[in-house]
Amino acid sequence: MSRIAYVNGRYVPHREAVVHVEDRGYQFADGVYEVCEIFDGVMMDEERHLDRLERSLRELRIAMPVAREALEAILREVVARNRIKNGIVYLQVTRGVARRDHPFPKTPVRPALVVTAKSHNLEAMDAMAEKGVAVIEAEDDRWSRVDIKTVSLLPNVLAKQEAVEAGAREAWLVDDEGFVTEGSSTNAWIITKDGVLVTRPAEFGILRGITRTTLIDVIEAHQMRYEERPFTIAEAQDAAEAFITSATSLVLPVVTVAGKTIGQGKPGLVATALRKALREEVVRTAQAERAFDPV
Ligand code: PMP
Repeated sequence: MSRIAYVNGRYVPHREAVVHVEDRGYQFADGVYEVCEIFDGVMMDEERHLDRLERSLRELRIAMPVAREALEAILREVVARNRIKNGIVYLQVTRGVARRDHPFPKTPVRPALVVTAKSHNLEAMDAMAEKGVAVIEAEDDRWSRVDIKTVSLLPNVLAKQEAVEAGAREAWLVDDEGFVTEGSSTNAWIITKDGVLVTRPAEFGILRGITRTTLIDVIEAHQMRYEERPFTIAEAQDAAEAFITSATSLVLPVVTVAGKTIGQGKPGLVATALRKALREEVVRTAQAERAFDPV
């Protein structure tokens, strides 16, 4: 089956899905994006992803390209047309197409909207979670507004490539004071030897991951102890467990941090239980938000 993408008002075959050379996203990375997980044909945490999209757009003074309800319909249509059961839907909004010049276009242009979707192999991802992954450390040399989910991802790309070349899944970025900010495309967590979950506060140093937020709901519902505070690579290496979170990874146990084995070198019990509980929570929320209606 051929893939279908949505590009500025049209559903087109993926290989013909193109944007203009003067799209400001292409020339200036002047745009934002979201990635939402599809599980069993249903979008997970959709409302939170769209809330964050609206915030990112507000921060950059880009208008919503279409009304939120219309955007929801487009996302659903792309998921349906690609027959995604398990996978992700990607959406990107840029300031639009204008003659190349740094300031915002003098005459307002319509923001550009692109939506794509792809399937992923759930079994392979669960197998990875059962084995656990390695993370390396890398310098966090990004700009100070990483709370905005912009398509300007070059430092993240370079850090991820470093991880891949080192045979790891993720790079944990470390700030000037030696504290871990987050992964190149995930949030970072540890569990101390006395059972306290720790993750960095979501101020301006990290992206406020939707999975992170939903996981905090789960943690609170189970009355588990957690702290939002920075931690170092050394503290992580000495932790009982570690894991990363994102829409695509859910809770993914980490078994090696910068070359050092964590705990028994196997996924921890708490991270494993949280992975399951998180899945149940996002499915429950999706069911509550709308009648469960697999495509
Ligand atoms: N941090 C960064 C830098 C990311 O790119 C992502 C994934 N988009 C995350 C954290 C996790 O966010 P979410 O849980 O919303 O996928």
